[in-house]
Amino acid sequence: MRTVGIVGYKNSGKTTLARALAQELVKRGHRVAAVKHSSERMDFFEKDTARLGEFANRVGFISPLESGVFWKKPLSLENMAPYLEADFLLVEGFKAEKTFPKIVCLRGEPDDRDLFDGLAICAVGPAHEGHELAVPHLSLDEIGKIADLVEEKAFKLPNLDCGSCGFETCYELAREIVGGTRSVEDCVSLQPMTEVRIDGELMPMNPFISDIVRGTILGMLSPLKGFKKGKVEISI
Ligand code: SF4
Repeated sequence: MRTVGIVGYKNSGKTTLARALAQELVKRGHRVAAVKHSSERMDFFEKDTARLGEFANRVGFISPLESGVFWKKPLSLENMAPYLEADFLLVEGFKAEKTFPKIVCLRGEPDDRDLFDGLAICAVGPAHEGHELAVPHLSLDEIGKIADLVEEKAFKLPNLDCGSCGFETCYELAREIVGGTRSVEDCVSLQPMTEVRIDGELMPMNPFISDIVRGTILGMLSPLKGFKKGKVEISI
C-alpha cells in the first residue's frame, strides 16, 4: 500500500492536514486509510460498552454506521496494514518510522529541524526564521499540490532490514528513493517469488499466501524424477 507519513510536534496541524489530504485523495478516486499514533488509550475503552472486552484480547464493535476491531496490544504498522485495504495509507505521527516518505508539519520553532531525516517530500506550516528548507514549502491551501506529491512519491518498504538490496537497512534505501536515485523496485523483498496469473492477469497475493502456494507446489514436485531448482511454470 502506498504510504506517506505526516509528522510534526504537538499542535502543528497534523490531523488537519491528514483530513484535508484524505479528502483530496478520495476526491481523486483513491481508497484512503489512515493510522494515527497515540501515546494515550482510546476513549472507547473508557466507555461502558468496552467492559465487554475487559478480559478479551480483541474487541469488536459494530454499529449501523461503522465497525471496528481493537487489539489490546500495540501492533506494528506492517502488521496492521493488511487490515487496511486502500490505495494510500496516511500515517500520522510515528516520527521514528523510516520506511516511507513524510510530510513535515512545521510550527515555526527551532526544533522543527529535528523532523527532517532525509525522508521529507515537502513541509507545511510556518518555518522558523533562517530555516532554509531543502524541500517544497507549501501551505494547507495548496492541498492539490500536496496530493500531487503524494501520488508521485508515496511508497512503503517492508522494514525487514534484510540487506538484499545492497543497503543494510530499509531506511537507507528509503532515503535514496526520496532523493530520486533509486526506486521501490530496488527492494528485493517486494519482488514476488510466486506469480499466479488467471487469464494473463496477475493475481495479488500477500506474502503469507504466496509462501503457502510456493511451499505446497515445490513440496509436491521436489520428490519427482526430473525436478531441479529453478523457475517453475505450471499452466492449467
Ligand atoms: S531489500 Fe527491501 S527489505 Fe531488504 S533491506 Fe532492502 S529495502 Fe529493506
